[in-house]
Amino acid sequence: MSLIAKGILQGMAVTAKNFIQSYYKKERLPTVEYPEEKSTVNQFTRNIPFLVYDGEDEIEGMRCTACKLCEKACPPQCIYIIKDTDENDKPIKRPKVFDIDSSVCMSCQLCVEVCPFESIRMDSEFELSNENRFEGLLINRDELLKSNEYYHEIHPIEAQETDDRIAAKIAEAETKKKAREEKARLAAEAKQAAAAMKAAEEAAAETETSATEQAQQSEAKAEAPEDNPETKNT
Ligand code: SF4
Ligand code: SF4
Repeated sequence: MSLIAKGILQGMAVTAKNFIQSYYKKERLPTVEYPEEKSTVNQFTRNIPFLVYDGEDEIEGMRCTACKLCEKACPPQCIYIIKDTDENDKPIKRPKVFDIDSSVCMSCQLCVEVCPFESIRMDSEFELSNENRFEGLLINRDELLKSNEYYHEIHPIEAQETDDRIAAKIAEAETKKKAREEKARLAAEAKQAAAAMKAAEEAAAETETSATEQAQQSEAKAEAPEDNPETKNT
């Protein structure tokens, strides 16, 4: 038998084995009956970005500070951000509007790369089809906001690494703050000591001056002729 024929027969045997096993072995079934059944999405799947929030309150826990770095970095310019303001019209470090046009997003992940606050991440959500070509595909801030627990569910390894990085940054900031406070305390103590030393020096100088003045006055009195009884009598 030629080498080619042998190779063809071996290939067909593997195909036949997989075909037969696909009737009774679940792991041999490459397809599922979507949408009734959904296959598990791999944790490395990336589709569209979402915004991470911590804790229970999605507005208070929002990590995004509306710095707009992602908006500038997005190649097809599909991110649109407006900063929020307080009752006095003062800007707040969070977005009032954060829209992503999913019909334009090309899943490049550049927005994730540039974000300095670990607040935007890639979702594995793929059921984004919509009848409305425009508004339906524009994902707004409230739809983009998803909890850190959700992030851990879809990308456990990456989410844990992010949490570790955030914890390290917080610890570093805490250490720097303590060092600054200690430096300020030592500077205040040094200033206080210098002021006390200066006051002591001034008091000593004053005492010395008044002693000298007193001595001079006594000397002057002693030398004055009217004050000298012996001189008076002669
Ligand atoms: S994944 Fe890429 S294209 Fe999509 S929003 Fe982020 S930067 Fe823009
Ligand atoms: S997602 Fe990140 S980069 Fe984009 S505006 Fe928010 S904090 Fe800035």
